[in-house]
Amino acid sequence: MSNKVTKNEALDYHRVPTPGKVAIKATTRLESQRDLSLAYSPGVAFPCEEIQANPELAYEYTSKRNLVAVISNGTAVLGLGNIGAIASKPVMEGKAVLFKKFAAVDSFDIEVDETDVDKFCEIVKAISPTFGGINLEDIKAPECFEIERRLIEELDIPVMHDDQHGTAIITTAALMNAAEMMGKKLEDMKVVVVGAGASAVACSTMYKGAGIKNLIMCDSKGVVHSGRSDLNKYKQDFVTSEATTMEEAFTNADMVLGLSKPGSFTKELIALMAEEPIVFTLANPTPELFPEEVREVKPKAIIGTGRSDFPNQVNNVLGFPFIFRGALDVQTKKINMEMKIAAAKAIAELAKQPLYPELKVLFGDLTYGRDYIIPTPFDKRLMVEVSAAVANAAVETGVARVKEFNLEQYREKLSH
Ligand code: NAP
Ligand code: MG
Repeated sequence: MSNKVTKNEALDYHRVPTPGKVAIKATTRLESQRDLSLAYSPGVAFPCEEIQANPELAYEYTSKRNLVAVISNGTAVLGLGNIGAIASKPVMEGKAVLFKKFAAVDSFDIEVDETDVDKFCEIVKAISPTFGGINLEDIKAPECFEIERRLIEELDIPVMHDDQHGTAIITTAALMNAAEMMGKKLEDMKVVVVGAGASAVACSTMYKGAGIKNLIMCDSKGVVHSGRSDLNKYKQDFVTSEATTMEEAFTNADMVLGLSKPGSFTKELIALMAEEPIVFTLANPTPELFPEEVREVKPKAIIGTGRSDFPNQVNNVLGFPFIFRGALDVQTKKINMEMKIAAAKAIAELAKQPLYPELKVLFGDLTYGRDYIIPTPFDKRLMVEVSAAVANAAVETGVARVKEFNLEQYREKLSH
């Protein structure tokens, strides 16, 4: 069946059999008067008192340990822009479905009609006791940076803005494999990032964390260089003195990562790059350049897009369900850089493993190479590999609440 869908199909999918895509399921028995006394008054008072005495026991007696909030204010939804809180609800419900289907994580989608940074943070903080983690979603830059920073600092549960870090983790995995395939060392590479918004800033931060030294960022006005006086504080972290024009930036560059909009760079600029460059054009749904345009000037390039109809799709669903799975299972307080790097390495490693028979039926005989540098989201091994890597890194860096953690036993548990 084709992956292309019509408007009517999509609307029906959301309306039938019941409006929306998620519902709540009870997990305990409720069939008798006695069950009622346990589930509600008077029995329910006992766990309340236990939690009052020790709030950490919420992980024992409530759904907190497996519950993530997917929170948006609707200010940067898909490529649709600032469409408002309620219009973003189908996307947030969709995220909840992916959490559940891919990693058995429960979530509530919460659409907050508030764009003021202080007020938004207050609202999220006030509802945070309910959850074991918070996935911020589709909040516009630069406000998303301040919102995430504050919530990470002030809350003791993991908070991650997926548009930033989910993207950064997957593109770091792709970078690691592509660089290895090209025989390039990260510290010797010249990387151009086109875009300086939510995803580009997070990707650039993580690329530097992974070992990239020469990184040139470009925004809608060109190269983010030291001579500019119009840069916000997030862009200022990436000023370069290596280039002032896009032509200089692209000359002999080993990689370009496009997180901007269609047409923001040309194939003439790609032609200036190294002989076998890595070219990721991730603007969605229309990439900066289409793969065939890149191939015209650099036939040997490794190319990735955000779309499912080309090879090497950078899809955030490879990351966030499993990152939160691992984070929830060790009741972590943060998602730190070590956990993100561990996730990226696990994703990169999995692409090198041969497909198992079920996956071959779906995808044919894909093997690790230029057209397959990152795994498909349907690879069931992602759950074990990524969640275990994230949980282990959380324990090793001291941000996990669980005292006893056995990696082998945890991997075993995940594989069932
Ligand atoms: P964003 O925060 O709005 O940032 C967009 C950035 O693009 C801004 O910094 C903007 O520059 C820059 N830009 C606009 N026109 C440009 C041009 N002609 N040349 C160079 N830069 C230009 O958006 P975002 O959330 O980071 O997302 C950016 C794009 O990446 C979107 O298309 C999104 O769908 C896609 N994306 C894909 C994936 C994926 O495939 N997994 C993940 C995340 C994002 P100024 O700062 O000067 O305005
Ligand atoms: Mg998003």
